[in-house]
Amino acid sequence: MTEITAPTTLSTLWDEVRLQERPPLPLVRHAQVVAWLQRLQQTAPDLFRVEEVGRSVEERAIHHVEVGQGPRHVLFWSQMHGDEPTATTALFELFEYLRRYRQEARVEQVLAALTLHVVPLLNPDGAERFQRFNAQGIDINRDALMLQTPEGRTLKALRDRLQPSLGFNLHNQDWRTAVGRTGKPASISLLAPAFDEARSDNPGRLLCKKVCAVIRDALDPLVPGQLGRYSDAFEPRAFGDNMGLWGTPSVLIETGPWPGRQTEAPLLRLNFVALVSALEALSNGRAELASLERYDSIPLNDSKGLLHVIVKGAHVFGEAGEAFVADIGVAASPVVRAREGILRARVVGMIAELGDLRVFGAIETVDAQGLTAVPLPPGDVKEGDIVPLPARRECEVGVGQLAKLMLLRPEEPPGAWRVERILRVDYASS
Ligand SMILES: [Zn+2]
Repeated sequence: MTEITAPTTLSTLWDEVRLQERPPLPLVRHAQVVAWLQRLQQTAPDLFRVEEVGRSVEERAIHHVEVGQGPRHVLFWSQMHGDEPTATTALFELFEYLRRYRQEARVEQVLAALTLHVVPLLNPDGAERFQRFNAQGIDINRDALMLQTPEGRTLKALRDRLQPSLGFNLHNQDWRTAVGRTGKPASISLLAPAFDEARSDNPGRLLCKKVCAVIRDALDPLVPGQLGRYSDAFEPRAFGDNMGLWGTPSVLIETGPWPGRQTEAPLLRLNFVALVSALEALSNGRAELASLERYDSIPLNDSKGLLHVIVKGAHVFGEAGEAFVADIGVAASPVVRAREGILRARVVGMIAELGDLRVFGAIETVDAQGLTAVPLPPGDVKEGDIVPLPARRECEVGVGQLAKLMLLRPEEPPGAWRVERILRVDYASS
């Protein structure tokens, strides 16, 4: 039996197949996907079979890409939540890998053993609006039973037609997600979803757990401690859970936060390594041999355990009363803003927690002992400036404010303050 390609080798290969023309996340929208699909058909029409399988509420085409000739059929769908785009790009990087290395034994084996069915961007209307919901305002992932969304009906009909024996349900998760109580970011989370309240096992769910174990073993050496297990509570309305009941047990992969400003490349790299490792293991029999213990021992996620920045031990003014000592916790998330008619992807921070924050992890910690934190006033303030303390009502720091703060050190003469640090979490995504 052949081995799975080493994670470090796959990680290096990703640099070769990385898409050069791509929008910054989270701007993956329908026009981009259509352009990528056209290129697949131009560059390797014999390899990729592309068909329209349905239309969104606003009549955007939903596509199905088929690649491979193997007896084992595997279904992938991405971005059923319109604002969760990482896996859509990752799937096209996977296609690029299959195209470029199709003559190599390890890719030949995948294409001979498996037939991949991929629905990139299931929710194009949501992507257009950078929102979770579709154009009806419905969460498609809560529509598996009622099937009131055309997108949900499209996915269900495709599954029923193809009867794939395994699925991959690809999402992004909240940037506040930590791995257990470790305070580390859950950069990738995995789940073999339950198909009943008792969280029973059956052969399909066991295979999902083994595929998760394969992915864990591939990612652990690259990002030790940054892999979590998603909550396995049964959700009767979700696609992932119902796919198992319909005969297509599905692995959930959630892309999460990354410890640094440049999040896109490292998270795409992890998606690539995860997907290729899983496909190789499914094609060469390694998946069935994987250890269930390696799945069961993945630490559970803590969905609110991580902050983007913690400002530690600052003097803070609340709405009323004297200044007190508190940690300030900033949560960040990707957003899209229109400026001068052009859409731009940004990372924006809000104050999400205030008080004793010792139980939280943080991507960055700022020591503010002896410093007073106040909102950054409008105008041209720089680090090193000497300023007066703003009026009392302009000193209030609270949950829900944008993360735009200055940290002040008292100077001589009394009443003068030095701007020690300006903290502003609002920057272009990359
Ligand atoms: Zn999602």
